[in-house]
Amino acid sequence: MCTVVSTLMGKFFISIVVEDGNSPPPKVTDQKSVGIDVGLATYITLSTGEKVENPRHLQNALKRLRCLHRRLSKKERGSRNREKARQRLASCYERIGNQRAVFQHKLSMRLIRENQAIMVESLNIGGLIRNRRLAQLIADAAWSQFLAMLRYKAKWYGVTLIEIGRFAPMSKRCHGCGHLNERLTMSDRTWTCPACLLPLDRDVNAAINIKMMGLGSIITPREPRAGPVELSALAEASKQETSPIRAE
Ligand SMILES: [Zn+2]
Repeated sequence: MCTVVSTLMGKFFISIVVEDGNSPPPKVTDQKSVGIDVGLATYITLSTGEKVENPRHLQNALKRLRCLHRRLSKKERGSRNREKARQRLASCYERIGNQRAVFQHKLSMRLIRENQAIMVESLNIGGLIRNRRLAQLIADAAWSQFLAMLRYKAKWYGVTLIEIGRFAPMSKRCHGCGHLNERLTMSDRTWTCPACLLPLDRDVNAAINIKMMGLGSIITPREPRAGPVELSALAEASKQETSPIRAE
């Protein structure tokens, strides 16, 4: 498409639009975006304040699993009873896997449907697994599986998924005023910002910080529009028609 614009001063500008085959980035607004904080006590916390509880399928089934493992080990090798016990154990594992997948599919689908952009913290699974106390919970929650679902579903439905590196102190920074609370410990679930007195929930605050950081990364243009002076003048002239993406 080609547009010719003339000014009162007799200057002419030509704007040429070409199809490059790439789909335009979806318009992202503050309302249609969500930040997600992943945790152990709760499965995920959304920047809206909603908390999705950890289903703990494996935890609930752990007793049953232990019992089935014990029964299997007591059966004589090669016996029919041993084979039966092995099958019972296998089906218990399978059921847990299925329940978890159903839960994750429903949750990821809901998040994709409700939002244009989803911001998450990229996970440091390796680092967490090394902490053996948490290993069981991590394995149960199967974060990487959930994140993988979010990634491909975001692609399918044209939702922007922004993964933020684990370098920023998401929990320690007050989302209201930006004050950094260095004294915050893991056991502090709620705190009051000493600077602006805002009452904060640890996970919700982190989710809001993740969202704000993600929004900042897409709303701020990556590179300033470079070009001849005439072109920027044209952009100035047609400002009303083409407003840049911004948070509302
Ligand atoms: Zn504050």
